[in-house]
Amino acid sequence: MSELLSQLITPEIQVAFSVVVVLLAILYILSIVWVARDAYMRGTYWYVWGIVALVPLVGVVAYCLLRPPLLQIDRDEQELEVALKQRQLMHYGECANCGYPVESDYVLCPNCHQRLKNLCGHCGHALEPAWTVCPYCASPVSGQRQAARRAPQPQAAPRQQRPQRPARPEE
Ligand SMILES: [Zn+2]
Ligand SMILES: [Zn+2]
Repeated sequence: MSELLSQLITPEIQVAFSVVVVLLAILYILSIVWVARDAYMRGTYWYVWGIVALVPLVGVVAYCLLRPPLLQIDRDEQELEVALKQRQLMHYGECANCGYPVESDYVLCPNCHQRLKNLCGHCGHALEPAWTVCPYCASPVSGQRQAARRAPQPQAAPRQQRPQRPARPEE
C-alpha cells in the first residue's frame, strides 16, 4: 500500500502540490488585503474585518455578505447631493398663512393672496420684510413693514392646506 502510494507521489506531483499550496497561500493573503482595503474604502472598521478575514474562506464570505453597500466616496457624494437639494429648497418656502408652496421672490401667495413681501416703492423689486433699505436701488424702505411681515418659511411645516392662521406670535 505504502509502496503504491510512494509510486503515485512522484516528484512531479510533489512539485505540483507545493505550487498549489503556494498559490492558495497567496490567494489567502490577497483576500485579507482586499477585505481590509475594501472595508477601509467603505468607511467601516477595516482592522476588525481584516481580523475576520484571517479565517480562511469563511471570513471573506462573511465580509461579502455583511459589508456596507456604499463606498465612502459614494456616500460623501450622496450627502453632498442632499445638501444641494436642501439649498435648492431654500429658494422655495411656503405661505405662512395657508402652507401653499411659494418661491422666494413671490410677493403674494397665489393661493390665499396673503402678502409675503414688500415692494420697493422706488424700483418695484420684492423685498424681504426685515430689510430696511432696498438692495437694488438703495432707497430706504419705510412704512409698509407691517403689510408683509410674513416671509416664506423654508420648509418649516408639512405642505398641507392649513385653513387657520398658525398661532405664531406677532413681532
Ligand atoms: Zn397662502
Ligand atoms: Zn428699490
